[in-house]
Amino acid sequence: MSTIESILKETRSFPPSDDFRRKAQISGMEAYNALCEQADDHYLSFWGDLARELIAWKKPFSRVLDDSNAPFFKWFDDGVLNVSYNCLDRHLPLNANKIALIFEADDGEVTRVTYSELHRRVCQFANGLKSLGVAKGDRVVIYMPMVIEAIVAMQACARIGAIHSVVFGGFSAGALRDRVQDAGAKVVITANEGLRGGKTVALKATTDEAFELGGCESVSSVVVYQRTNNGASKWTEGRDVWWHKLIEGQAEECEPEWVNAEDPLFILYTSGSTGKPKGIQHSTAGFLLGALNSFRWIFDYKPNDVYWCTADVGWITGHSYITYGPLGHGATQVIFEGVPTYPDASRFWRMIEKHKVSIFYTAPTAIRSLIKLGADLPAKYDLSSLRVLGTVGEPINPEAWMWYYEVVGGGRCPIVDTWWQTETGSAMIAPTPGAVPTKPGSCTLPLPGIMADIVDESGAPVEPGKGGFLVIKKPFPSLVRTIWGDPDRFRKTYFPDEFEGKYYLAGDSAHRDESGYFWIMGRIDDVLNVSGHRLGTMEIESALVANPLVAEAAVVGKPHDIKGEAVVAFVVLKGSRPSGDEARKVADNLKQWVAHEIGKIAQPDEIRFGENLPKTRSGKIMRRLLRSLARGEEIVQDVSTLENPQILAQLQEAAN
Ligand code: ATP
Ligand code: MG
Repeated sequence: MSTIESILKETRSFPPSDDFRRKAQISGMEAYNALCEQADDHYLSFWGDLARELIAWKKPFSRVLDDSNAPFFKWFDDGVLNVSYNCLDRHLPLNANKIALIFEADDGEVTRVTYSELHRRVCQFANGLKSLGVAKGDRVVIYMPMVIEAIVAMQACARIGAIHSVVFGGFSAGALRDRVQDAGAKVVITANEGLRGGKTVALKATTDEAFELGGCESVSSVVVYQRTNNGASKWTEGRDVWWHKLIEGQAEECEPEWVNAEDPLFILYTSGSTGKPKGIQHSTAGFLLGALNSFRWIFDYKPNDVYWCTADVGWITGHSYITYGPLGHGATQVIFEGVPTYPDASRFWRMIEKHKVSIFYTAPTAIRSLIKLGADLPAKYDLSSLRVLGTVGEPINPEAWMWYYEVVGGGRCPIVDTWWQTETGSAMIAPTPGAVPTKPGSCTLPLPGIMADIVDESGAPVEPGKGGFLVIKKPFPSLVRTIWGDPDRFRKTYFPDEFEGKYYLAGDSAHRDESGYFWIMGRIDDVLNVSGHRLGTMEIESALVANPLVAEAAVVGKPHDIKGEAVVAFVVLKGSRPSGDEARKVADNLKQWVAHEIGKIAQPDEIRFGENLPKTRSGKIMRRLLRSLARGEEIVQDVSTLENPQILAQLQEAAN
C-alpha cells in the first residue's frame, strides 16, 4: 500500500473580508456547510433542484440520475432543452441591450456586442450551417482565432444540435487532421488568418495542409471567416465558403433544435500533457448545469460584474467559463485575442483598468511569466475594480499565489484556485470565496455536491498529510460521458477495476491537510520514488519557485542505482539563462535551498537551466518529455500539442 509523502508546509490562510462575505452568494462557512450537508443527505434532489433552478427546460425531466449502466451515467435524461436558448434567448426580455462581449483584438481595437446582437449573429450563422446540410448530431470542427465569431460558431452549433469540437488555433496540421478524422467532422470552420502578438497565424493554409495529409474525407464544407485583409492563399471550389457569403440573406431568427439532456453538446480533446489526447464527450444538460452552477459559486458572480477569463475557447476553460457559463448567466465579459505579453507585459493590467474588470481568471503559467517580465507593472495601473481573482490549469506555486494576491489583488480579492479537468466539465475543488478561507497553493475544498476524496491503491481513504489518488466517489452532472468512439478506453482510464469501477479516477495525486484542504501534488504518472519516499512534483517545484532567482521549475525522476530515482530539476531563472561556472554556482545554491526549505530528501541531484520549459499549447509543463531528456532518451512520445519544440535542445545539457 503506497501513499505519497508531503514535505511542503504552508501555514498562511486568508479568510474573506467581512464585507465580501456579507455580500456573497454563499456567505460564510455555515452556508457552505449547509449546502454540503444537503448534498450528502439528498444527493439526487440537490442536483435536481439546481437543474430546475438554473436551466430553462423545454420539457422538464422526470428522473435525475440513471445509473443502471454505470459508469455510463445519464442525468435528467428525459428532459428537453437547448443550450443556445439558455445562453441567449432567455436574456432578451430584460437584457437585450446588455453588453455580452467586450472583444479586444490583438491590436487593441475594442468591439462591444449586446445580447440581442449576439443572438442575431448566432441565428444567422446557425441558418448558414443548416444550408450546408449540418443537422443534429453532426460534428463540426472549429479551428478559429480567439474572436467573437469563435463563440458565435460554438453557440450556432449548440443551437442546431450539432456537436462542436474546438481545436485550438495554434495546433499544427497534423493535430488538426487527427481531431477532424477522429470526430468524423462534416464541416470545418476556420479563418483565413489569425492574429497573435502582432503576427499572423496561417489558419486556412494549415487547414489545407491538414486535408492534404489525408483522413479528412468526412468533411464536405470548410467555412472561412475573413479575419485579415489578406484573403486566402488557396481556395477549393465546392468545398470552401466564406463566412460572410454564407450568412448573406440568412434569416435573423433560428428556432432552436430542442434536444435531449443526454445528447452530446461537444467533444473536446484533452491537452495531451500526459499522452495522446482523448476525445472527451460532454452532454447537454449536465454540462450546462455544471458550468452555470460553478460559475456563480466560484466567482460569486453578480449581474453587474465585468468578468474576464483569459483562456482560449480551444480549452475546456473557454467552453465552461467563456462560451457557456457566463453567457448562460447573462454576464458581461471581456474576451481577448493575442498573448499576455503583447504589445508588452502590461496588457492584462491595462485591460483590467480600461474595462473595469471585476472578476479575472487566468492560468499559473501566465502569472509566472508576468512575474518574470515585470513584477512591478501591475502597480502602475488602477486595478481597484477587481474583487475576485481565479486560477486554473496547473498547481499554482505558493509564491506566485502570494504575488497574485498582493500585487494584483491588493490583498483585497480572494484567490479562487480551481482544480478541474476537461473530463469534469466544471470546477470541482475550489473555494466559494465568500465562505472558504484560502491558502496559497491549495485549491481548498470541494464545491458542495462534489464527493472528492483521496485514497490509496486499495481505495481506502488516506490520513491527513499523506498523498494518494484523487478520486470523485459519486457521479455528478458535468462528468465526461465517454471518450468519443472508445467507451472501453473511457472505462479503463476513469473507472478502473482497482476501485471496482466505482470511483472516478482523476489521474492526479493530492493530499489533505488537518483542516481537510486539498493540495494537488502533481500527476500520478509523475510521482518520484526517492530512497523509498514517494514524492509529488509540485512541492519540490514550489520550493524552487520560492527562491527569488527562480521564475519556473519542473522536476522529474531518473533512475539511480542507490536511491531508486534521482531528482532532476529543470529551472528557468528570472534573469537570463546561466552557463558554465555561473550555472554550476546557481545550481549548487538552489540544491541547498531546496534541502533547507523542504528537506534533504527532495534536494535535486541535477539541475538544468533553460529559457523556458516544454509546454502544451495551453501552457502546461510537459514533464513526460523532460523525463526522457533527463534519461538521455530519444523523444518518441506524441508531441503534437507541444508549443515550443526548440526548447528541448537547451535542456539536454546539465549545469553540473
Ligand atoms: P491530458 O489528460 O491529455 O494529459 P491535461 O490533463 O493537461 O491533458 P486538461 O484537462 O486540460 O488536460 O487539464 C487537467 C489537469 O490540469 C488536471 O488533471 C490537473 O493535473 C491540472 N490542473 C488543472 N487545474 C489545476 C489546479 N487548479 N491545480 C492543480 N492542477 C490543476
Ligand atoms: Mg488529463
